[in-house]
Parts: sequence; C-alpha cells; structure tokens
Amino acid sequence: MLIGGALTASPRTFGVVDPATGEEFDRAPDCDGTALDAAVRAANDAWPDWRADAGARRACLAEAAAALREAAGALAPILTAEQGKPLRDAETEVARAAARFQHLADLEIAPDVMPGSGGERVEVYWRPVGPVAAIAPWNFPLQLGAAKAAPALAAGCTVVLKPSPHTPLATLAMGRVLAGIFPPGVLNVVAGTDPLGERLAAHPGIRKINFTGSAATGRHVAATAAPDLKRLTLELGGNDAAIVLDDADVDTVADGLFWSAFANCGQICMAVKRVYAPAALHDDLVGALAERAAKAVVGDGRDPATQIGPIANRPQYERVRGLVAEALAAGARAAAGGAPLDRPGFFFAPTVLAGAEAGMRIVDEEQFGPALPVVRYRDVDEAIALANATPYGLCGSVWGADAGRAAAVAARLDCGTAWVNGHMRMSLDEPFGGTKHSGLGVSGGPWGVRAHCEPFVLHVPAP
Ligand code: NAD
Repeated sequence: MLIGGALTASPRTFGVVDPATGEEFDRAPDCDGTALDAAVRAANDAWPDWRADAGARRACLAEAAAALREAAGALAPILTAEQGKPLRDAETEVARAAARFQHLADLEIAPDVMPGSGGERVEVYWRPVGPVAAIAPWNFPLQLGAAKAAPALAAGCTVVLKPSPHTPLATLAMGRVLAGIFPPGVLNVVAGTDPLGERLAAHPGIRKINFTGSAATGRHVAATAAPDLKRLTLELGGNDAAIVLDDADVDTVADGLFWSAFANCGQICMAVKRVYAPAALHDDLVGALAERAAKAVVGDGRDPATQIGPIANRPQYERVRGLVAEALAAGARAAAGGAPLDRPGFFFAPTVLAGAEAGMRIVDEEQFGPALPVVRYRDVDEAIALANATPYGLCGSVWGADAGRAAAVAARLDCGTAWVNGHMRMSLDEPFGGTKHSGLGVSGGPWGVRAHCEPFVLHVPAP
C-alpha cells in the first residue's frame, strides 16, 4: 500500500483470483483500522501545502502521466491476470489512465469573474474541499482509479484511493509507480475488502467521497456520507438502451452495436445493455449480431488472439448465468451463446437473446456481462417509452440512416449522454454523469475538477 509516501505491507492479506482459471494466484494487503487512520491522517497533513501551489500540482500530474506510460509493460499483465481483459485492452487502459493525468496537468481552472448587482466585481474561486476518498470498481481499475484520483489531485485535494477487492493488484502497482512523484500523503492507496470502503467513506478525516460502483452500493455510500454532509460524486450503474430505427442498414449497425455491447466482456457502465429493434428488422438484426458473437474469439487475456476474456469474478459470472437462464426460461431465444463455456474459469459464450421483453430481469436490470437482449418495438414512441422506463439514466443511442431524424429521437432519451450511430465515444473534456439512479454529479474536464471544489465568492468594490 502507499501510505504517507511510504510503501507498506500488511500482516493480513486477502486472496486475488485469476478469472481465466478461477484460482487464487496472489494475495493483497488487507488494510486495517490503524493503517486506514494513518492514510487519512497523511492526506490531511499533506493538504495545506498541496492546495497552495497549482503549478506544482500540474508538474506532478504530468510526471505521473509519463511514469504510467513508461510502466505500461509492467502494469498491463497484472491487470489482465486479476481482471481477465485481453492484454492489449489492459495496455489501452494504462494509456487512458496516463492520458487522464496528462489532460489534467494541461488544464487550468481560472476564477470566474462577473459584474455584481451594485456595480462591483464578483470573483468566484474554486477551493478544494479537502481529503477525498476515491473508491473504484473492478471493471477498469486503473482507468477509473485515475479518473477518481487525478481530478481531485488537480483541484488541490489529497486522496485515499481504494480499489475493488476483486482487482487490487494493478492499483497497488500503480501506487508503487507513482510513489515519490507526489509529495508524501498527497496520494495514498489502500486495499481491502468491501467493509474497508465503508470505513473509508465514514472516516471523519474525509471531506468528499468520489465513488464509482453499483447503484446499490452508491445508495449505502450516500447514507454513509449524510451524517457528516460529506460531498459526493456517485458514478453508478447503467442500463443503456440502443434504439435501431427502421431506416437502419442492419449490417452496418450490427458492427457498431456488437462491440458497444461486448467490449470488456460487456462489463462497462456505459455499454449497450438493451437493443430495441423495429419488428420488421428484429430477426435480421438478431442474426447479424449472433453472427458476430459466434465469430468473436473468447479466451485467456494473455493469448494475443483473444478478443473477449472471462467475466471478471465469480459473483458476476453467477449473476450473468442466472439472468440468461431466467430469460431463456421466460421465452427468449439464444441466437448465439446462452451458456458458460466448458472450461475452467469464468468464461461465458457471447450471448444474443432474441425476443426479449420488459419484465425479464436481463432487460430491466443491469446485466454487466456478455449477454445482449434484443426487444421488438412497434413505433418510435413505444421504443422511447421502453428505453426510458428504467431507474437508470446513464447513456443511450439511436441508430439509423437519417442522422438528423436519429438525433431528434436521441434527444428524447432520459440519460446523461446520448449518441447517434455510436455508443461510448467520449473525450476527456466533456461532462459525464447519469440521471436518476445512475449517479450524482459529473466527472470530466473542468466539471470533474470543480466537483472537488467549493466556490468561494469575493465581492470587490468598483474602483
Ligand atoms: P460495487 O458497488 O460492488 O463496488 C464498488 C467499490 O465500492 C469497490 O471498491 C467496493 O469494495 C466498494 N464498496 C463496497 N461496499 C461499500 C460500502 N458500503 N461503502 C463504500 N464502499 C463500498 O461495484 P462493482 O461491482 O465493483 O462495479 C460494478 C458496477 O460499477 C456496475 O454497476 C457498473 O455499472 C458500475 N460502474 C459505473 C461507472 C460510471 O462511471 N457510472 C463506471 C464503471 C462501473
């Protein structure tokens, strides 16, 4: 772990499982209460100096980006071993983590200035809130660890970063790479099981919680934050709908849709999780998606031919298995896949479900895995109503030959981000967040930095 600038071990450890074998392959330090207190104390001690010098912060962020780029060859195999993703995707993830640090090194947040009601000048300064608990999930440990930590650091906050217990090792290794770049106590990395997340979120030395994970845990985190009125960013689950319009070219759409649903084995908050197809195109679209599913190479992430790795951990594997089995029992048809692969590890055949319907849990809930339900609709109004009939509101997309018409339909989606003829394209500059139970607050660009700040407003009399 990285606590107060020092790399520390722990007498207690917990096992980390390789999802490609289903076997424990390493152990991670289990942060106890004393070590957690030390990490939070270090973050508080480091805060006054860190908040004072924006130039020094940007220099450290740039150095961190360079160090991560340099360490990609060492970090990516650890990520593949604990998470399962293909090695080349793990390398991309390290590159994206580095890009996040670099982007924030290059971003300057100036005070806002405006005229006041009495003719005076009003200056709005963005002051860092204080030590931040950054809590990350297992689908993109490094990319999301960086997306939590880097904006907080850029804002002038110090950070205690906690990865998921399913994927602690790459984040601990990232902590080792970054040790010595940030002043002691500015970035701390601790590992432990879920109760550590709760203890960190509840810690009185923490002023803000930046959490990415499931909506269920997000609600717990909000409750934990409430007594102390800790500031919150919650980036939670999604059940993104993709609506295919009746003028769409099925083959073109299927190419884009397939990888928007199955990249990272479907374990992406903003992956396509439900497809709505006009009744006349349903069978052709299902066929085209199933063809792509059958061709996708599923395997161990260390095999260079692999396109889709195993599901990342046993609980998620069991969940996806259960949701698919339930949908099949309720009348959906597996046009591709439909079952686990007969081999050790958490491998599941890429699955396309024809004739899925509202009321099936795989349509109503976030499956977060390699199984895609396709639902028939009668007209666009019905498609929009079905797409919006969810407690989630992360992203969505509309696919069709007439981009203007598709954009008008997309504008009716109740979510944070929508695309036409694509899904998941995103720059580091834009605000990213969800409506309804998909989250609270936004990340990305200046929005993500200000999310770790509170405005301080100064009225200066006119000269
Ligand atoms: P999770 O909610 O189980 O765990 C997330 C993190 O919270 C882990 O580090 C965990 O140890 C910690 N945690 C668990 N209980 C806690 C508690 N009571 N208090 C504080 N922390 C606690 O989520 P997961 O299964 O790791 O991740 C998958 C979920 O994350 C999916 O729902 C996915 O959509 C979502 N996600 C959202 C985004 C986004 O940006 N909106 C991005 C990626 C993943």
